[in-house]
Amino acid sequence: MLLFLYPDATEQTGEALLARLREAGLEGHPVADQPRRVIRLRGAPQATEWLESLPGVQHAVQAEKPFHLALKDSETRKTTIRVADHTIGGAEPTIIAGPCAVEGPEDLVSVARTLKRSGAHLLRGGVYKPRSSPYDFQGLGRAGLEMLADAGRTVGLPIVTEAVDERSFEEIEEFAQIVQIGSRNMHNFALLKRVGEGRLPVFLKRGFAATLEELLLAAEYLLERGNPNVMLCERGIRTFSDHSRFTLDLSIVPRLQELSHLPVFVDPSHASGRRGSVAALAKAAIAAGADGVMVEVHAHPDRAMCDGPQSLAPGAFEPLAEQIRLLASVRDGQGEAVR
Ligand code: PEP
Ligand code: MN
Repeated sequence: MLLFLYPDATEQTGEALLARLREAGLEGHPVADQPRRVIRLRGAPQATEWLESLPGVQHAVQAEKPFHLALKDSETRKTTIRVADHTIGGAEPTIIAGPCAVEGPEDLVSVARTLKRSGAHLLRGGVYKPRSSPYDFQGLGRAGLEMLADAGRTVGLPIVTEAVDERSFEEIEEFAQIVQIGSRNMHNFALLKRVGEGRLPVFLKRGFAATLEELLLAAEYLLERGNPNVMLCERGIRTFSDHSRFTLDLSIVPRLQELSHLPVFVDPSHASGRRGSVAALAKAAIAAGADGVMVEVHAHPDRAMCDGPQSLAPGAFEPLAEQIRLLASVRDGQGEAVR
């Protein structure tokens, strides 16, 4: 286990902590003092709550490998990413919306117009789709990428789309403002390394069986290769619960905000798999401290080639965008009340 001390912890605090651990029969070893003090604890994992109650300890993490670059080194440090005229990780919550997959130009432009008018900041749309079945629609590839870029230019929204391998990333780099690494590729280390060497900001989704530690280590791959612009996204995990597509693990949001300086997003669409749950979960995500949400919106959800049941119709997106802004302002202490 790793104990991260408060950024202003002195050498004396570290010594006192080591002594306190020894009293409890535990052996701690200092492993870093810059940019903050870190102590590695050997032996069986201890209760996080108890460790975090010890003087000087800010976070206790069950980690075999530290993720220095993804961790906050001061309370106020926050990565912000400028895309067009919006700052991700800044005061205003970021709203990313669009269809699961790009299917053709007309519907895409019509949905993109509504999104822009409602105050979305980025247009999403998959063109390389990681599908569970090889017989399902795999995306339009480069032609879809061109359509997405055209739609973004037409309405004035930057675009985000998913790379599934190094080849698709190289095409995406030509057209998109942000690249997404999807849940199924969070552990694709070759892709992480390549994208880490690229210039595009990265929207990194949590693997649906990945722990917080593994998510931060995946981010560390990107950061370690020199790409500082990384966003983290909770999108639901696999549990025994079968009333929704995945289980939205909202509890990771405040934990990530405590531990990391990277902007934190939530995708309620893939988490729930049901359009009826999307608005409630998106608002819960903002209330829990997310910097933004990613929501699937389709011009005609009942005709969508991919993820129709979880896609909002444009008319349902408009009030949600407004409620997200209101909630964020109340959360951050600038608002009056939430309708
Ligand atoms: C997506 O955003 O289209 C997607 C496939 O998401 P995930 O990787 O979270 O399943
Ligand atoms: Mn989808």
